[in-house]
Amino acid sequence: MAGEPQADCLFCKIVAGEVPATVVRETETTVAFRDINPQAPTHVLVVPKAHYRDAATLAAAEPQLTADLLREAGEVAAEDKVVGTGYRIVFNTGSGAGQTIWHAHLHVLGGRGLDWPPG
Ligand code: AMP
Ligand code: ZN
Repeated sequence: MAGEPQADCLFCKIVAGEVPATVVRETETTVAFRDINPQAPTHVLVVPKAHYRDAATLAAAEPQLTADLLREAGEVAAEDKVVGTGYRIVFNTGSGAGQTIWHAHLHVLGGRGLDWPPG
């Protein structure tokens, strides 16, 4: 069923507490944790607790949950004090764009200068 946990999904395991992560925020519908391979001083992943393969699939199925993720990105940025200097929210979508984990997640990147366009 749409949104159900997947046994072979790393982020479902982090949501379930079966794989450890440095969780910075949790709500009824989302979990935010530090990326294991940070690309910036602030590099946090925000994921829905429900499993969807990518951002577009999530948005089509659950608009409110998609909004929850974006709101949480803002909360993470505020807690890490990167709002003033700016931060980036990224959804890599598809392997050609660098998506490696097929459970929707956004990256919050900040705390350093961020080039545009990204590589
Ligand atoms: P993406 O390439 O957009 O699919 O992002 C996946 C991200 O997950 C990468 O930035 C990885 O460094 C990160 N990642 C992989 N395994 C873990 C983990 N166990 N805990 C935290 N972040 C992870
Ligand atoms: Zn999952």
